[in-house]
Amino acid sequence: MTQTSTPASVATSAAPPLQKQTTVGNYFVTNYPPYAFWKPDFVPEFEAALERPPESGTPLGVYVHIPFCRKRCHFCYYKVYTDKDASQVRAYLDAVLQELAFYAGKPFVGARPIRFVYFGGGTPSYLSENQLRHLTDEMKRLLPWEQAEEVTFEAEPGTLTDHKLKAIRDLGVTRLSLGIEHFDDHILEINGRAHRSREIARAYAYAREIGFPQINIDLIAGMVEETEERWRETVAQAVALAPDSVTIYQMEVPYNTTIYQRMKAEGKLEAPVADWDTKRAWVDHAFREFERAGYSVNSTSTVVKDPAKTRFVYRQQLFSGADLLSVGVASFGHLNGTHYQNHHEFDPYVSALTAGRSPVYRALTPTPEERYIREFMLLLKLGAVSRSAFTAKFGRDPVEQFAGPLQQLKETGHLTLEGDAIRLDRAGLLKVDLLIRAFFKPEHQGTKYA
Ligand code: SF4
Repeated sequence: MTQTSTPASVATSAAPPLQKQTTVGNYFVTNYPPYAFWKPDFVPEFEAALERPPESGTPLGVYVHIPFCRKRCHFCYYKVYTDKDASQVRAYLDAVLQELAFYAGKPFVGARPIRFVYFGGGTPSYLSENQLRHLTDEMKRLLPWEQAEEVTFEAEPGTLTDHKLKAIRDLGVTRLSLGIEHFDDHILEINGRAHRSREIARAYAYAREIGFPQINIDLIAGMVEETEERWRETVAQAVALAPDSVTIYQMEVPYNTTIYQRMKAEGKLEAPVADWDTKRAWVDHAFREFERAGYSVNSTSTVVKDPAKTRFVYRQQLFSGADLLSVGVASFGHLNGTHYQNHHEFDPYVSALTAGRSPVYRALTPTPEERYIREFMLLLKLGAVSRSAFTAKFGRDPVEQFAGPLQQLKETGHLTLEGDAIRLDRAGLLKVDLLIRAFFKPEHQGTKYA
């Protein structure tokens, strides 16, 4: 994407204090401006964006949200459904396909090929082989993605039979992402996960055997009843599996989680999980163990075995301003300069599409200044931003633009300017989601994130 307009100057403001205890609320920053500023009144801007040809050089990817799970994890804050029968799942998939059909002929697609595809959830692997085939065959007919560089598919180990794994591979998945979270059965059980360690071992071994090009595993540091010893054991087991990449989340406790409901009922303000410093130390331990095994840290939450071979196209493209055609209940996308989100309840989403109406419920068109902030802070989550590349893209030097916040972060000792790189140290990287709030415009400071 080439952005030639010059953002207005960015106001500086102090970063919020670094909290220590884990209290309720969203901690991670995944987009900008904050979702609270996306409004139904702005949906016409999104509709107008669909009718324009794409901005020159902007890649296009597709995200498909599958909101079904076998069981609701106690830390989950997503919109997920554990009670839908086969006919409701089918109605949902047909709604998703109707949504894609609506978009497929619009001018914003232009002559762009689909560069990357992401099946997220929820649990995409909850779908049966027939449901998966129905969904993906139709998708390929509407918006062909055979030439996509990357097709990611999130999977819960307990849903993966050998047959289903083969079917997933055969539909063109290049990056299988296994939601392992932990290897200890007690931790899995007490946190409401549906799978157990036996299922992890079986699914991982077979996925390797049938040759997925890339296998990522997810872990969570700081689940309920986590201990130093259990975490170290889980890290050791993860290293022994030798996945291509590992994503390690720090446990957060948003409002609509079962854990928070219990806290509220018991009148507690502090969540029954480790404090933030401990969780950062646990992720740091994992990073060090993987580094000892030859891996490289390439973001606040990921390590990769072979950076030259193992890319994560979805994240790289999204953080660099790609368009994301996102379909499904509650899904978030960005097309031709406008952010949007679909209805976040199942029935309004499905019935809007069944009645031939748009399922988009709120939108926001970021200003050039906000696009500038968004891209800078997301790239900083990868650990470093190239000053010259950023300046070439936006026509404005971030070191001048963000003089105030960068100076604050330099004074904390977490940020350095080394030649062309604006770089965070390891401690800064592990709390980057707090630090990047310093780049927000004043009116976005202190807003509840999700
Ligand atoms: S598997 Fe993932 S999406 Fe499903 S309930 Fe658990 S955390 Fe939520």
